[in-house]
Amino acid sequence: MEEVVVAKFGGSSLADSKQFTKVKDIVTSDKRRRYIVPSAPGKRSGDDHKITDLLYMCYQLASHGINFDEVYSIISKRYEDICSDLELDLDIKEILTDIKYKIQEGATRDYTASRGEYLNALILSEYLGFEFVDAKDLIVLDKGDKLDLEKTKKNVASTLADIPYAVIPGFYGANEEGHIITFSRGGSDITGSIIASGVDAVLYENWTDVSGFYMADPRIVDNPRHIDTITYRELRELSYMGAPVLHEESIFPIKSAEIPINIKNTNRPEDPGTMIVSESAPINHLETITGIAGKKDFTVISIEKTRMNEDKGFFRKLVSVLESNDVSIEHMPSSIDSISLIVSSSEINSKLDKVIEEIRIYCKPDSITTYPEMALIAVVGRGMINTKGTSAKIFTALANNGVNIRMITQGSSELNIIIGIKNKDFDKAISAIYEAYK
Ligand code: ASP
Repeated sequence: MEEVVVAKFGGSSLADSKQFTKVKDIVTSDKRRRYIVPSAPGKRSGDDHKITDLLYMCYQLASHGINFDEVYSIISKRYEDICSDLELDLDIKEILTDIKYKIQEGATRDYTASRGEYLNALILSEYLGFEFVDAKDLIVLDKGDKLDLEKTKKNVASTLADIPYAVIPGFYGANEEGHIITFSRGGSDITGSIIASGVDAVLYENWTDVSGFYMADPRIVDNPRHIDTITYRELRELSYMGAPVLHEESIFPIKSAEIPINIKNTNRPEDPGTMIVSESAPINHLETITGIAGKKDFTVISIEKTRMNEDKGFFRKLVSVLESNDVSIEHMPSSIDSISLIVSSSEINSKLDKVIEEIRIYCKPDSITTYPEMALIAVVGRGMINTKGTSAKIFTALANNGVNIRMITQGSSELNIIIGIKNKDFDKAISAIYEAYK
């Protein structure tokens, strides 16, 4: 069977006509690149606008009955310029007018936002000479607007079986009533992954404006080491903790088929990028630590109660207080007589007093202390399982740099160590751990 590569191009890779020419060079340089998934045009420079943001703005204005001509004309100009620069024979003006009319007539928020990808895919398909296949005819969402992966995979496989080369817009699908539903922001990554699983691709390429992942955030650490290979699970841990680049939900569709993802740079296609592989893939060189990432703004609620472990139902009551207040628990480290709940500050802030009061009533603890403005740092690495002294090295590095550790948890898989510190120590802690391992 012929090998297939699915290539997704992000917004910065398709921000203007110059970027489109780079994308064409990349696509045509490997015949296996048969299914292409574009995002909407992104920023051309720091102070530019993403088309998706402008579309959300149009929707907002239209839904308040405010004229959105000015914003829409910025959107139209972006697409018109791309088409005229590339000398395309596509009546983009007519399509833009039709979309504007639909927004005026009360199109949904999701429909409006999805047009960024729709238009870009129409243009790219014309430019590449590939067929346009609408994502609304491939990607099925169920009643709760959740992806129905099985139905979708069948659709993708049967539809694309007869179409050797196609462009499929990212970011959206349709529910059973045929209404357009978008994924969360950055969701074209998920579309690429879905298409790759549906056509059983040998590789899913995700083209962006960086050459893959780095061991730590380059805004915090100077020239961090590049990550050549990372596993799905390591990536999941790191992206949950805020390492950007790939949408965290993009792993699920391809995980069982073990399709590798290659993060590549459209502006430096010769760079190998980062390979994201399944846990079972052979890896040549194993570092102890693959990456360090973190998130700020958590609140820790620390509860003490003597003989907590003998109090049957204690944990259930505690968790149910959070559940009934609609607050999700990020982590829950515990010791014999104490337990800490780590929750996102933005979720708990307005409810903190109520939650604490309810914990007092239902769980009758000896004491409750809250620590606001906390940050979590995850040190992730599949190599930690086989290495002694990893945590000692991390803690020494933090202590030597004057960072006070408030909490430590290690996942049962020994894939990560999570450390709780004060927000203000965030950058210092990441740099200290990186220096210890670089
Ligand atoms: N255009 C959408 C966004 O800006 C989806 C994507 O780029 O992946 O979030």
